[in-house]
Amino acid sequence: MQPGNSQLLDMGIEYLKGVGPSRGEMLRKELGIHNFGDLLMQFPFRYVDKTEFHRIGELMPDSGTVQLKGILRRLTVQGEGRKQRLSGVLRDASGSIELVWFKGVHWLQKNLEVGKEYVVYGKITDFRNSLNISHPEMEAADTRNTEEALTFAPVYPSTEKLNTRGLDNKVRRRLIQTIFEKLTPADVPEMIPEYIRQKLRLLGRFDALKIIHFPPDAEQLKAARNRLKFEELFLLQMRLLQLKKRRKGAIIGYPFPTIGDYFNTFYQEKLPFELTGAQKRVLREIRQDLGRPIQMNRLLQGDVGSGKTMVALMSMLMAIDNGFQACILAPTEILAQQHYEGISEYVEGLGLTIGYLSGNVRGKKRKLLLEQLAAGEIHILVGTHAVLEPPVVFQNLGLAIVDEQHRFGVMQRAKLWKKNTPYPPHILVMTATPIPRTLAMTLYGDLDVSVIDELPPGRKAIETLHKTEHQRRRVIGFMKEQIALGRQIYVVFPLIEESEKLDLQALEAGYEVLLLDFPQPQFQISVVHGRMKSDVKDFEMQRFKTGVTQIMVATTVIEVGVNVPNASVMVIENTERFGLSQLHQLRGRVGRGADQSYCILMSGFKLSNESRERIATMVRTNNGFEIAEADLRLRGPGNIEGTEQSGILNLRIADLAQDGRILQTAREIAHRILDDDPQLEKEHHRPLGAFLDKHYKHLKGWSRIS
Ligand code: ADP
Ligand code: MG
Repeated sequence: MQPGNSQLLDMGIEYLKGVGPSRGEMLRKELGIHNFGDLLMQFPFRYVDKTEFHRIGELMPDSGTVQLKGILRRLTVQGEGRKQRLSGVLRDASGSIELVWFKGVHWLQKNLEVGKEYVVYGKITDFRNSLNISHPEMEAADTRNTEEALTFAPVYPSTEKLNTRGLDNKVRRRLIQTIFEKLTPADVPEMIPEYIRQKLRLLGRFDALKIIHFPPDAEQLKAARNRLKFEELFLLQMRLLQLKKRRKGAIIGYPFPTIGDYFNTFYQEKLPFELTGAQKRVLREIRQDLGRPIQMNRLLQGDVGSGKTMVALMSMLMAIDNGFQACILAPTEILAQQHYEGISEYVEGLGLTIGYLSGNVRGKKRKLLLEQLAAGEIHILVGTHAVLEPPVVFQNLGLAIVDEQHRFGVMQRAKLWKKNTPYPPHILVMTATPIPRTLAMTLYGDLDVSVIDELPPGRKAIETLHKTEHQRRRVIGFMKEQIALGRQIYVVFPLIEESEKLDLQALEAGYEVLLLDFPQPQFQISVVHGRMKSDVKDFEMQRFKTGVTQIMVATTVIEVGVNVPNASVMVIENTERFGLSQLHQLRGRVGRGADQSYCILMSGFKLSNESRERIATMVRTNNGFEIAEADLRLRGPGNIEGTEQSGILNLRIADLAQDGRILQTAREIAHRILDDDPQLEKEHHRPLGAFLDKHYKHLKGWSRIS
């Protein structure tokens, strides 16, 4: 088979010299490498400076990945059958170290030669107080390619299987070299338009690929990485924005042209406060969407306490004014009830009927509710997941709102679409988990996003303090003062599933200890945790809410949305065990009333650097977006709450925590190109269009929010 050169990158990987059918199969299965192009597009994840050798005598348990040069002194097979292992000793002038292999024993035994000098490369591990390297890369010192030895050597992602089946890093580099022997710039289509490349001073695609695999020096490597990062983010943004533009025309929705009586009366007579500028802006954005005959799919981000509920309610009034029903879903019964009570109170006197539905609404009550709903007698339905179930039928659902969207699964949200025919309801998804801008641009790049970035006026910033165990007495004293002032206090314990039992014990023990300082009957303490029956939990919540109890000892079940304005102190135990976004969510439970609020972060004295930085971030700022940025920096994009289900963060080379500027540029340029040439028909955009069609067709948008 002799394909034209332009298709070289599309050739099946098994046709590459040195691969063949069985290795080809392995590369496909293990690494998703199907053709030459795929092999080139998997970049080294790091480079080692192969000009340096470590001295064996100076190695430490934390030396990491090292390069050694020494004589192989011994090679012995230990154990039997499947438990067999090969053990060798490498010695240089300064000392010796053990090398071990658990796989490929026979092959290695045949091919390695005792008494010969080797260059050995691998990661130091500390096993029972002695250092060794398992599965090191071995290269005879005399046959070593000196040219390669002088440069940065790339290290590719691999798997155990590939390594033991002879497809290690060395072989991988050779295969890539083989491709480059044939490859010319004509084989590597350049998709970034020339005028953009010039403006941003980006390397050409062929050069960048060559350099990333065979970097001559650090500077050129940086330029190559920069070009490939831009390429990755730019193509992604192009595709996401294409999808967004396309979808905005595609899905029909009911237009709500009228701002009618309900909205106006509410606005003029019922609204208990002046809307913040951000609330007004977001309402305008929503109103614009709802005015068009296109389905709205909008994400509303707003920090805890920023007033999302009011935006939700007023959006629902727009639907009702146009003769439609609306619903709002919350992830827990407590939250749903809170919304029900809050909304009922807000709209009192407007003549609206508000329904409530959860799994606990049963029997006659449920039957009646469902009848009213189907007959269009209920204007707003507030509820939990129960609303999604098939028997729940609306007469005409015009707007569905989902609060705290990350608590709902994708499948559950998809059910919302079917709650109305022929056109789906407009959808507004609200989240209090701020997502860093870079992440939002990527994760929700094909959606419309509104942000409430302003808190209602008059809020006192929550004062956050970090205290260690030996300051406990002072903390107790402070709690007593606050209770004497009539305030209420949350004491929060971590509850993480792996150690659920232990955590529960810690919570119970914590409760017992608190009882010593806050004895009954003078003080009353509620306890709430996830293992409780929900009616017991609700009862305890209610006692706290109504002020019967002064202290609530709880796990993170209170994290989302619980609203007790009189609770102005939160003490968090074992703070080091919470993630940043969780801490931020928890802290949002206080600072809801007029009083100065406090959040006290208790921790042990010894802390890891990461915990220390997390706590310092909490003490420094109340701003959810700033906290989200810090979280992204500390933990990387894959761990940010709300992003787990997304495959999007498997970027090849770009890093959302670090490459925000590149992303911003990529998105702006993508916007400009699509505004100027939506179909990518202009001569200088055609290669880009063709590339997107060929390689990005599969990408449908990760994040249909509902
Ligand atoms: P969240 O965005 O966390 O859901 P809420 O909607 O629960 O926030 O609002 C938090 C509190 O702020 C509520 O008590 C609400 O009545 C109040 N609030 C909302 N908007 C305003 C505003 N513009 N001015 C004053 N208070 C407001
Ligand atoms: Mg809320």
